[in-house]
Amino acid sequence: MVSYNPFKRLVASSRPNQTQGLPRFVNLSVVRHRLEQREESLSPFAARSKDSSRETPESPSDVRTEYQRDRDRIIHSKAFRRLKHKTQVFIAPSGDHYVTRLTHTLEVAQIARTIARALNLNEDLAEAIALGHDLGHTPFGHVGEREVDELHPAGFTHAGHSLRLVEKLEREGRGLNLTFDVRHGIANHSKPRDDVMGGTTPHDLTLEAQIVRLSDAFAYLNHDIADAFRAGVLDSDDMPKVVTERLGERHSKRLDEMVTDVVSASWDATGDDGLDSHPSIRMSDEMRETVNVLRDFMIERFYLPENEGEEGIAAREIVRLLYRHFDDNRSTIPGEYHDEEWAVVDYIAGMTDQYAIRMAERIEPGIGKVFALRRAR
Ligand code: MG
Repeated sequence: MVSYNPFKRLVASSRPNQTQGLPRFVNLSVVRHRLEQREESLSPFAARSKDSSRETPESPSDVRTEYQRDRDRIIHSKAFRRLKHKTQVFIAPSGDHYVTRLTHTLEVAQIARTIARALNLNEDLAEAIALGHDLGHTPFGHVGEREVDELHPAGFTHAGHSLRLVEKLEREGRGLNLTFDVRHGIANHSKPRDDVMGGTTPHDLTLEAQIVRLSDAFAYLNHDIADAFRAGVLDSDDMPKVVTERLGERHSKRLDEMVTDVVSASWDATGDDGLDSHPSIRMSDEMRETVNVLRDFMIERFYLPENEGEEGIAAREIVRLLYRHFDDNRSTIPGEYHDEEWAVVDYIAGMTDQYAIRMAERIEPGIGKVFALRRAR
């Protein structure tokens, strides 16, 4: 009797033969050349990875452009992993659906990539800047940031610290050696309080970095509305009339209105209308006004009250306690933070919310009780 063997053909066909068995030598750098070639078809105003430079020159990757490498270095960094446990608005939130600094960062990257691709700009650069922009946030978000700024004689901003992390602290003090374009974009992503388009941006800021500045605001305004609704702090009737009239009432609609407005208002960035213009990333006057109204509303009705609430006050006390404790006991700071002027700040700024609470509890038991009470509820 002949038995049926379903694997027989498979075995026969996968038997190595002389030709298949020979190793193939492929010059993989053809991949990067092809990717760089594709960048040539971007807008004439787009940044190009082969024109970028690093402080310490490196030999190129065979299969990735320089901006792709930067993106990968940021994703593999320790600071990026810690974003998961850092505050966006709600401090050390106990609900699983609240935004954290990590999900905020991913939303910024997604919005920035959409706008960059729509304007035929460099999506990889926009993505790398977006993923790195908030690495330097302290525990407890802007509450922690403000407290460290008051305590440290040289001051503190999260954007400045994001830059310090990628330049000096990551990889045991060697830094990530990112390209200038990515570092410049990270350092210049913050916007002034009064106008989302305001402030002076350096003249050499790439269009991709300008996209990240706005994408950051679009992301946080929209996901913070959702968080405020989720927590019952605000409801849809509280929203300014002009905002609901112009942007609608749904998260996806609001975001879509903002993104499409920027794409059409910044169309000269594509180069399709000629090369005479000096393009920048813009919003229509009407959208700029609407977003500013929304931002003001969120500051007054959500961000400031949250920061002044009992958790905000406890967070400030914790940062103050940690700062004084480690300033007085410098030998207990991990050896990787050895810059005399910055060691205390570098250590505290790197902490996640929970790590800071645990550490403060060890120094002064009971200081974080408001957070323990909330978890028990
Ligand atoms: Mg941000």
